[in-house]
Amino acid sequence: MDPDLAATSIATRAAHAGAGPHGEARSLAPPIELSTTFARDAAGEYAGGFVYSRDDNPNRRDLERALAGLEGGAEAAAFASGSAAAAMVFQALRPGDHVVTAHDSYYSIRLMLDEVFIPWGLAVTFADCADLDALAAALRPETRLVFVETPSNPMMRVTDIRGAAELAHRGGALLMCDNTLPTPVLQRPLELGADLALHATTKYLAGNHDAMGGAVVTAGDGELWRRIRRSQKLCGAIPSPFAAWLTLRGITSLVPRVLRQNESALAVASALVAHPAVSVVFHPGLASDPGHAVAAAQSTGSGGVFSIRVHGGRDAAMRVTSKLRLFHHATSFGGPESLIEHRASVEGPSSSTPDDLLRLAIGLEDPADLIADLTQALAPA
Ligand code: PLP
Repeated sequence: MDPDLAATSIATRAAHAGAGPHGEARSLAPPIELSTTFARDAAGEYAGGFVYSRDDNPNRRDLERALAGLEGGAEAAAFASGSAAAAMVFQALRPGDHVVTAHDSYYSIRLMLDEVFIPWGLAVTFADCADLDALAAALRPETRLVFVETPSNPMMRVTDIRGAAELAHRGGALLMCDNTLPTPVLQRPLELGADLALHATTKYLAGNHDAMGGAVVTAGDGELWRRIRRSQKLCGAIPSPFAAWLTLRGITSLVPRVLRQNESALAVASALVAHPAVSVVFHPGLASDPGHAVAAAQSTGSGGVFSIRVHGGRDAAMRVTSKLRLFHHATSFGGPESLIEHRASVEGPSSSTPDDLLRLAIGLEDPADLIADLTQALAPA
């Protein structure tokens, strides 16, 4: 990072992410470096520091530097998706190693463990990581990694990052925290003791529903990190230069977007708490939420996502999604348009998400318009 930026706040660092001047033209916005290969000079050296784009690329390098700076980490590695980032971490472990992860973390990563990495040789315990006693009970002498997601998607359960880090470290394991929902704007796991932060940059970091990506940010330079870095180059699950460029461009507006989405989501969630058609609102920002105290101690918000359960089961939930006019009925989150999703049907038959649960991803609209839309959609038919 530019030494002048190193001491500034996250808002300033994000606004300057990737800014030039670049190259002979001294362009302020970074160019997209599509070349897959870079020329040696007369002496046979790679004077520009790049050899081949799978190994490293200027757009990816700028993105990685920005991500490390935002999380307060030593380094970051960018990948083609959040799932690819998680896979590279699991693959950097050895067959026989034990992983403890949350039983309610992002469903597709749980499926990845079940269908790919358990057959490959990892031992995995799915535990209730929001309960530190349950997490402690799941640890084994061969545990190498504890992987938490807080708040969890879509149940919004909160894990105490400091407590989880202490337990993991006591047993000689590392703690990785999926920080996709709150983003480093609202929560910085490495400052709370985690060793690695995982991101689906597809969401808030890219911020426009138009670029897939993932990242791992490390606090230090241990063996697991070196193996992740090596796998990034050897296995090639990397973002394209264009995806890296789009993500970096998203980061320049990350702070005001996330602050607004966080504030709007709390306003919308608060408006739904007393609604007669809603049985529960899962949002750690609400004083009534079981995770509120821990969330308040380790973050300044949970972001734009929260979930509700509605009276009347699956059919009632589906009816709400079809009556909404401003919310798109679509998966994902982190973009400017608000989305709503019936999670159980997207997660499939193995899902433990309640059938009457809807996950809301609040965008950049006026929250009053969103509340009015939800009020009409939740009204009895
Ligand atoms: N982590 C969380 C919390 C997610 O919500 C997702 C995707 O929704 C992922 C990881 C995986 O990211 P991707 O879809 O980019 O593979």
